[in-house]
Formats: sequence, C-alpha cells, structure tokens
Amino acid sequence: MKYDYLIVGAGLFGAVFAREAMDRGKTCLVLDRRDHIGGNIYTEEVEGIQVHRYGAHIFHTSDKNIWDYINRYAEFNGYINSPVAVYRDELYNLPFNMNTFSRMWHIRTPREAKEIIAAQIADLHIEEPRNLEEQALSLVGRDVYEKLVKGYTEKQWGRDCKDLPAFIIRRLPLRFTYDNNYFNDRYQGIPVGGYTRIIEKLLEGADVRTGVDYLKERETYEGAAGKVIFTGMIDEYYGYRLGPLEYRSVRFETEVLDCDNYQGNAVVNYTDREVPWTRIIEHKHFEFGTQEKTVISREYSSEWRVGEEPYYPVNDEKNSALYRKYAALAAQEEKVVFGGRLGAYRYYDMDKVIASALELVQRELV
Ligand SMILES: Cc1cc2nc3c(=O)[nH]c(=O)nc-3n(C[C@H](O)[C@H](O)[C@H](O)COP(=O)(O)OP(=O)(O)OC[C@H]3O[C@@H](n4cnc5c(N)ncnc54)[C@H](O)[C@@H]3O)c2cc1C
Repeated sequence: MKYDYLIVGAGLFGAVFAREAMDRGKTCLVLDRRDHIGGNIYTEEVEGIQVHRYGAHIFHTSDKNIWDYINRYAEFNGYINSPVAVYRDELYNLPFNMNTFSRMWHIRTPREAKEIIAAQIADLHIEEPRNLEEQALSLVGRDVYEKLVKGYTEKQWGRDCKDLPAFIIRRLPLRFTYDNNYFNDRYQGIPVGGYTRIIEKLLEGADVRTGVDYLKERETYEGAAGKVIFTGMIDEYYGYRLGPLEYRSVRFETEVLDCDNYQGNAVVNYTDREVPWTRIIEHKHFEFGTQEKTVISREYSSEWRVGEEPYYPVNDEKNSALYRKYAALAAQEEKVVFGGRLGAYRYYDMDKVIASALELVQRELV
C-alpha cells in the first residue's frame, strides 16, 4: 500500500479530512473526477472577479471552533448576505423583515405588521394544511406568500405549490426588526481570494489527481491505500443497485457584462413565476469589487437525471428510506468510509461539512 488514505473527492469534506490526516503523519492520495479541486465551493477568477461556478457560497456559522478552524486557511472579508427579491415591478428586502413589510403595506411599526399578518392568516381558516400552499399561507398570510414564496418555490421544485407536500416548509421566519442580514449566525463572510485557495492550502502535501473518476478506474486504485474515504454519491458507488436517490439540480448561465454594476447587490431573487430563473448572482459584490466589468450568473432550477450534477437531495420519506438501505450496505464496509454531502445524502452547509469531517477524524485518527 502506497498511501494510508485514498480520498475520493477534492471538495471541502475530502480536503479537511486529508489535512487532518496529514497533520497526524498519514499519507493521502486525493482523486476528483472534475478537472479542478474544490468540489462545489470552487471559485475561479474571471475579469479579476472570483466567480462561484457551482452557485453562490457564503460562509456562515455560529460555531466558534469551526470559525477559528476555517480562519486558519483564509481571511474573511466581512460580507453580510442581504438578498433582495424582485416581484414583477416591485422590490423587497429579504429575509421577510420590517423593510419588507413596510414596503408591502406602507406601515412603520412591528405591531402594524403583526396585525396585518395575523388578520390574513385568520381569514384563511386553515386548520390542517394539506399541501405546501396551505402550509405557507398559514405561516405568513396571503401577501407575503403570493409575492415572495409561491412563484419562487414553484420554480425551485418545478411543480405547483398545491401539488407539493406541506412538510417541505416547516418554518418561514418573519423578522420584526429592520435587519436585512439573511443569516442569524454569529460569524459570516467570503474568503478573500476565493474558496479554491482554501482547498489548495488544505491539500498541501497530498498527492492530488483531477480528471479521474474513481468508480471508472477502481481497478487501478484498488490496492493504493489502506482505506478509502468516499465523498461521491453513495448510490452511484453501489451501481444504483437499489435504485437512484433523487436530487434537484441547478443550471447556471454565466455572462461577463461590459458594465461595472448590473444589479447593485450580490443576490437578487426573482419570485414571480413568469421569469424563468430563480436568482441572479453578481459575483463582484461578494467582495466589494470595483472592476470595470461584471460577471453575473442566472440560476435555473431543474429536474435531476442520473449522470447530471446533483445539487439538493430530496429528503422525503421515499428517498430517506432508500438512503437508509444504502447506509446499511455502507456500514458493512471495512475499508471504505462515506462522507460529505453526497456520501451522506444530506444538504450540508460548509460549516456542517467541516464539523462532520472533523468528527470522522476523531473516529478514524484519534
Ligand atoms: C447551489 C448551492 C449553494 C450553496 N450555498 C452554500 C452557502 O451559501 N453556504 C454554505 O455554507 N454552504 C452552501 N452550499 C453547500 C456546500 O456546497 C457544501 O457544504 C459543500 O460543497 C460540500 O462539500 P463536499 O466535499 O461534501 O461535497 P462536494 O463539494 O460535492 O465534493 C465532492 C467531490 O467528489 C467528487 N466526486 C464524486 N464522485 C467521484 C468519483 N466517482 N470519482 C472522483 N471524484 C468524485 C466530485 O466531483 C466533487 O468534487 C451550497 C450548495 C449548493 C448546491
């Protein structure tokens, strides 16, 4: 065996595990089937701007240990995510807060906003929400639902809200202060110089090969390491033998524009159903950029098919039950450990991925 660990996937999970293993004297070979490292947090420089190729990534956490950990590998720029929503010719602040309500109803005080929402909810007489529409209506009332939730959610899921199950939306937080900070977390920001640099630092000292699909070249790497850490899709690893797990996918249309400021904000959501994209990201605003040009990405939510890039796991009953069957197969493996968002079939924010990689380190290496 040449290496202690063969790590499949050069994303955040694989890179954190590799770093910790190497810091404990272990050797690592890291493979990724994409032509670059970084997984979904990969950023590349275009016109001097860090472009988030697989969707906007804002680091946020309330876990001081994770914040300290990531700050060993990057300096963060203090960016606070404050998205806005465009509904037809109206523009609202997100998350739903006093700025949103004040614009919607021309009111000023939290009391007025609460009264309007409570009256709208009471008017609907929804006892037991039977679908997502009723669930959302019973949480925020008609105006916020119709202008800011309905169209966006229908585009995200490719289905009418009446045909979606209620459990998808458990909470729709309403904030009765004039605070546009999207996240409630204590620490937040964008790494100066982009995310790829973090992964480069984490992988320093490892042998890294990109453009290699481990599942297609399994024989070549069979005896390469004592143990495999697999961060790809758990169902793909098993040849989909129990059936494929479902995902929602996202398609990105990225353009360089000959103007210095296209939309004045990093994230603009489009909440009416008529506009086909869900969001437009203007990447330079994540880093307070002053370049002459700008780069924007339109995001379109789409159905996922085997072979395409998986983004969001569909954690409904059916898929969760199927995942548990794959996880039972995985538990029998002696030399393979599954991890990361695809290995665990979970939506993980970056801080949770780091925490989960560090937990694996505790089990494996301490
Ligand atoms: C659209 C979107 C936006 C997001 N925004 C945020 C955000 O704002 N803030 C936040 O905290 N989190 C965000 N996240 C979550 C974040 O992307 C994840 O937490 C993180 O990327 C997970 O890292 P990972 O290593 O588990 O997986 P990945 O980054 O997916 O890495 C897995 C790697 O394994 C490789 N791989 C798979 N199969 C094989 C194989 N057979 N052979 C070789 N290589 C293989 C893949 O190519 C991939 O590079 C977002 C996620 C999405 C989808």
